[in-house]
Amino acid sequence: MSALAIRHSAVNLGQGFPDFGWPDEILAAASRALVDGPNQYPPSRGIPALRDAIAAHYRRHYALDVAAESVCVTSGATEALGAAILATVQPGDEIVLLAPAYDSYAPMVRRAGGVPVEVALRPPHWRIEAEPLERVIGPKTRAILFNNPHNPAGRQFGRDELEIVADAARRHDLIVISDEVWEHVLLDGQQFVPLSTLPGMEGRTIKIGSAGKIFSLTGWKVGWIVAAPELTSVVARAHQFLTFSTAPNLQAAVAFGLDTGDPWVAPMRARFARARDRMTSGLREAGFAVLDAASTYFLCVDLEASGIAIDDESFANAAVEKAGVAVVPLSAFFERDAPRHLVRLCFGKKDETIDAGIAAMARAKELLS
Ligand code: PMP
Repeated sequence: MSALAIRHSAVNLGQGFPDFGWPDEILAAASRALVDGPNQYPPSRGIPALRDAIAAHYRRHYALDVAAESVCVTSGATEALGAAILATVQPGDEIVLLAPAYDSYAPMVRRAGGVPVEVALRPPHWRIEAEPLERVIGPKTRAILFNNPHNPAGRQFGRDELEIVADAARRHDLIVISDEVWEHVLLDGQQFVPLSTLPGMEGRTIKIGSAGKIFSLTGWKVGWIVAAPELTSVVARAHQFLTFSTAPNLQAAVAFGLDTGDPWVAPMRARFARARDRMTSGLREAGFAVLDAASTYFLCVDLEASGIAIDDESFANAAVEKAGVAVVPLSAFFERDAPRHLVRLCFGKKDETIDAGIAAMARAKELLS
């Protein structure tokens, strides 16, 4: 969709990147680290300053009992996911995904020789239910690939839903790869609850984080995994032959950001909430049915309930070509039984981008209703 957005000079509300919000201090720290160096291979598991900063960040925010040996720095959460999957999945293993699912999950599971098994969450509430999850778990199930807060549902799962996942993992002795990259992009005063803080989950959870999301710098691709030291060692071995390491200067800047940047989090959340409100009300005024969103910087529009009878993919193609706005069809996040009436929009944008996007969506509605 981003390539199409460029080709058609469309407003790009498809790919998830904010066009505001990064703290200048962290950019200054990165440029200092580039000039001062070192610029040679850093340690494979990450520079000590960043591993310490990540452990301290999680001790401070969630009282997680982690130290530097629990941490492995990766080239973005995408690599962390790849390393965690390669480290835990053996050929023939079944891995449970909750769909809609981030698009790297199923292809990476297959690459590792595993079999992705989907449990569908249903709009508009996207709730995790115990029975459908239990139904797909069998003797070959090895892990659950979990994402919270959830992209593209735009919500944090409740404590009761986390308990459903944890209960299944404990009873069936499963690893949970918990993609928590959106942990700080929580709106409306919510507190984040890491899955590993639930009873019995610390030793079986591989927590994944991303500086790209925390500091609105998606291009930096500095991510990490945090797990029990034995699990971290296995993931670190997979990481060693994927990328080996990540740019040391960006690692130094992220360490600086994690050590000093707690005061940046609340204003960031407030700014995203304002953007969410502006896009939601503008789209609703234009006649769109918008699903509630309270985390990540994504919201979903229900085409059917907005009086648009074509499917999500046809809408997305026509909207970018004819109305000048790129959105993502939600069926892209499902392997099977996809809903065909929803599209995802990124609201992490400046007012003028949001307004241009709303105007283009209104044009699309006129053309396609
Ligand atoms: N997981 C989820 C759920 C995401 O939304 C994203 C980015 N959109 C990633 C992983 C990838 O993160 P990174 O850019 O750090 O690789």
